[in-house]
Amino acid sequence: MGLSDSVTVLPGVGPKRVAALADLGITTIESLLTYYPFRYEDLRVKALNEIGDQEQVTLKGIVAAPPTLSRFGRKKSRLNFRLLIGQDVVPVTFFNQPWLKKSIEVESPIMVYGRFDANRKQLNGMKILSSGKADPMASVYPSNQGIRQKTIQQLVVAAWDKYHTEIHDLVPIAIKTHYRLLDRAQMIHDMHFPKDLKAAKAARRSAKFEEFFRFQMQLQLLKRRDETQAGIAIDYDNQRLKRFVQALPYELTAAQKRVVNEICADLKRPIHMNRLLQGDVGSGKTVVAAICMYAAITGGYQAALMAPTEILAEQHANNLQALFEGLPVNIVLLTGSTKPAVRKEILPRLASGEINLIIGTHALIQEGVDYHRLGLVVIDEQHRFGVAQRQALRQKGANPDVLAMTATPIPRTLAITSYGEMDISVIDELPAGRKPITTHWIKNAQIDSAIQFVLRELAAGHQAYVVTPLIEESEAVDMKNAQAIYERFSAYFAPQHYQVGLLHGRMKNDEKEAVMQAFKENQYQVLVATTVIEVGVDVKNATVMMIYDADHFGLAQLHQLRGRVGRSDQQSYCILIADPKNKNGVDRMRVMTETNDGFVVSQKDLELRGSGDVLGKKQSGLPDFKVGDPIADLTMLSVAQDEAKKLTSTPGWQDQPDNANLVSYLKQAEEHAYMFD
Ligand code: ADP
Ligand code: MG
Repeated sequence: MGLSDSVTVLPGVGPKRVAALADLGITTIESLLTYYPFRYEDLRVKALNEIGDQEQVTLKGIVAAPPTLSRFGRKKSRLNFRLLIGQDVVPVTFFNQPWLKKSIEVESPIMVYGRFDANRKQLNGMKILSSGKADPMASVYPSNQGIRQKTIQQLVVAAWDKYHTEIHDLVPIAIKTHYRLLDRAQMIHDMHFPKDLKAAKAARRSAKFEEFFRFQMQLQLLKRRDETQAGIAIDYDNQRLKRFVQALPYELTAAQKRVVNEICADLKRPIHMNRLLQGDVGSGKTVVAAICMYAAITGGYQAALMAPTEILAEQHANNLQALFEGLPVNIVLLTGSTKPAVRKEILPRLASGEINLIIGTHALIQEGVDYHRLGLVVIDEQHRFGVAQRQALRQKGANPDVLAMTATPIPRTLAITSYGEMDISVIDELPAGRKPITTHWIKNAQIDSAIQFVLRELAAGHQAYVVTPLIEESEAVDMKNAQAIYERFSAYFAPQHYQVGLLHGRMKNDEKEAVMQAFKENQYQVLVATTVIEVGVDVKNATVMMIYDADHFGLAQLHQLRGRVGRSDQQSYCILIADPKNKNGVDRMRVMTETNDGFVVSQKDLELRGSGDVLGKKQSGLPDFKVGDPIADLTMLSVAQDEAKKLTSTPGWQDQPDNANLVSYLKQAEEHAYMFD
């Protein structure tokens, strides 16, 4: 018998309930006991003569005589006392909860929950609800269609009743004492059956810590496993690498040099690299990736670069073709729209190792795509890919090194949660000569003046992006909007002979590619587009980014879009058009106009999503915590991280008896691996 028992051991849990409970994430006694209430409610007390036999009830009365406690062996005990209710005296018995004795004071009011024996007029106690002076409280749980609140309450009580002696501490005793956390049994008890709000609060604090600590322990173990796992040691040709860097059309920034060194050091070591490269839009991540991929190639390995969209993959392919001009690098592009005949020709050359650099989309991880000696995998704009996809590419080779790139700056909250198992390299510097982008927020009524402004920029020889409204999650509607705005702008700029291009998600890939190419070559001066241009597109001559209905976009997305301009030494502008309907929308526009710092933008983004916004949090990439809030409880989260680091770096910690429960818990969690996706 243990907490990992299935909930089916409880009375009344048949197949239907099992399904409803599973829906709530409840499968085992452990998951039921840690299915915590989200609030507490007043309790109603029944009169004695209203209670049926064996009914579970709450009784309220006065403790008539001191409680007596008898113990049988190590775990078993019986606690008796007499409860005075009006004229009646009801004997109450608690089995195996000796600690309750201190809550039972003679002549004090008390509320007890339990099963009533109507014939003998006595109560088999399950829990003490409150001293009777404080507000009586009942737990309220999140429930669903398949299962009633009352049922969950009863199941929790039943589980507690049967299993509370099986609850052992997870947090090591030293940590528990240091942070004054409750014993686990007490914590779980007080989460479900607090005697007052103060007790509930104390229990919640302990529960949060435990949740964060367990999470951080898993991360630390994952990280250690990566570090000890045999990876490949890429013995790259430093001389060739140096010549390549010297031949670049620009000098690398100090930050780029630093991260190239960090990554190359990892490549050389026989461990498995799992590194995140973070750099704001325009900071020059692509060339860093190119250098590292070239390193792998000079070491006799293949490199793969996976991008989230075909446009981006094509752009990378073009850029890398140019960068590797004249070098012995065989590059191919493989995407969903690669013609079957071409694909058929590529695959054997990839499997034989003749191709040493492959660039593509999801197509790179499909069945039938096999590599010869895959040494380095680069994943661009990694937040667009799920963990499963990243894993799939990694499994294509003999555990290749992985470099994930992201433009989304990682606030501390995320760094110690979602990315806790990765090493992080940061490019915290833009190439020299870049001017900060000026951002303006205007109302729809002011659009004409904005268009005048665009005209002036065009007259100066520059180009502009116009991003069309994101009304709903429907490509069809987005396309109609884009079409309408395209026509308006075409008519508007016709007298000056400026050409306008249109780009939307419904276009075929070669059409998209042709439009992008034409914009790059300045055949179009204005590009009207849906958010397909959001990531990575690089046209230096573009200096204006105009975004319709900007309040419909997330802050991180706006920052990405804004990053499409400001890519040269020309002053660039971002114009946000929005009539926000609420304060949150206004706040978001303000953030955009006040800062260009992606780090600030993303921290604000997390904050403005608020702690109640579950969906927003999901999208933000934060893991799902049950009790803890990684934003509001950041300090506790990082304390938990420090403790987990300290513990996992203590030699032999796994063999200490005090940690036995934690170790076995972590083993189980690893099997279920619930925390990643
Ligand atoms: P991102 O980090 O957003 O992916 P890119 O890699 O697309 O940025 O780089 C943005 C632009 O900056 C590209 O045109 C690239 O050629 C240029 N670039 C990169 N590094 C430097 C540098 N050290 N000096 C000048 N320009 C650079
Ligand atoms: Mg990029």
